[in-house]
Amino acid sequence: MNRNIVIVGGGYIGAELARRLDPVADITLVEPRAAFVHAAAMIRAVVQPELLDRALLPYDNLLTRGRVIRERATAIDSDGVTLADGRRLMADIIVVATGSGYAAPFKPNGGDVDTLRQANAASHAAVMNARSVAIIGAGAVGIELAGEIKAARPACEVTLVSDTASLLPTYPPRLGAEMERQLSVLGVTLQLGRRVTALPTKTAPFSEIVSLDNGETIRADLVFPATGACPRTDLLTPLPDARIGADGRVVADRWMRPSALPNVLAAGDAVDLGDAMTIVATTRQVPWLERAIRSMLAGRQLDRTPPYTPWRNPPILLPLGPQMGASYLPPAGVQGPIPTRLIKGRALFVPKHRRQFGLGG
Ligand SMILES: Cc1cc2nc3c(=O)[nH]c(=O)nc-3n(C[C@H](O)[C@H](O)[C@H](O)COP(=O)(O)OP(=O)(O)OC[C@H]3O[C@@H](n4cnc5c(N)ncnc54)[C@H](O)[C@@H]3O)c2cc1C
Repeated sequence: MNRNIVIVGGGYIGAELARRLDPVADITLVEPRAAFVHAAAMIRAVVQPELLDRALLPYDNLLTRGRVIRERATAIDSDGVTLADGRRLMADIIVVATGSGYAAPFKPNGGDVDTLRQANAASHAAVMNARSVAIIGAGAVGIELAGEIKAARPACEVTLVSDTASLLPTYPPRLGAEMERQLSVLGVTLQLGRRVTALPTKTAPFSEIVSLDNGETIRADLVFPATGACPRTDLLTPLPDARIGADGRVVADRWMRPSALPNVLAAGDAVDLGDAMTIVATTRQVPWLERAIRSMLAGRQLDRTPPYTPWRNPPILLPLGPQMGASYLPPAGVQGPIPTRLIKGRALFVPKHRRQFGLGG
């Protein structure tokens, strides 16, 4: 019977899967960071840095039987995982959940959470002193950041630049329209359908004039690049038959196998399973992984588990500060500030994740 499971990466997929399987298998979670980073709280943390202490969650109380090894994995094969310090962890089943990176100050640069604390402190000071801020990229992170800055500092001029003609084009049009309405109420200037001709960096905030493809320029005291996540695929690409898909993620089959190795599974931002790179996606992927691995532990072939099916119509919750925002919550459809505030905007799911890590809500 397969019992030895190594999970690489303690983000939304890895930490929750490790916690769920801890009672039934020998779990080793490999994670270089001292604490889990609850990314959803890192946007508000730019204006409320005290949130960091509640949303960076040490791994100490996550597992009862298993262990968390604080190290980076450098290679995997069908027998196990090699760590940066040279150790080998033998495994019957390996799950790779190495996620993605994002520009500062929203995720740490690599394995060191202190880089996130430093980036947060620098961005907080810069935002508090800025008369004007520009945000390049109007995905969920860019939109929420515009709302948080306006909620905390209404006098600060905020410009949000999107290369799409409308906001959130992959969701029902009413959501983007409601967002545009609320951002305009908050006084955010929207530049839709505009590309920045060149960004000096995509990895951290900066203070330089940016030029748009229509010849206009934006002179803001502070510019946040928010141009999307960068999947961490370096452990997966060397595996036999692994291939990178269109969005830079490794393509996995419907049983979450990213390669020809039958005992290596992968999920989350690093892998294309048909879902977007969201926590919402991980909440669908983890229960499937748990079921599939329990079935493997019982001696059944992985293919006997019904295949994973991605979200067809995923929900999304987008607070604009603690009070405003909009959501798409099928089957109810597009919702306004009150449900958005009650479900997410007030507490950003921080208590839920603190409980998951054995900490007081
Ligand atoms: C600012 C921000 C806010 C967001 N808010 C939301 C939201 O409100 N709702 C939503 O649905 N989505 C949100 N997202 C998206 C969400 O954060 C990601 O989809 C989610 O983090 C993906 O989870 P994951 O487990 O795949 O990877 P991650 O959470 O990125 O975790 C990957 C882990 O793997 C570790 N790792 C990487 N390489 C190695 C290695 N070689 N060895 C060992 N460990 C390794 C990393 O240290 C990390 O801890 C947000 C993203 C950002 C940047």
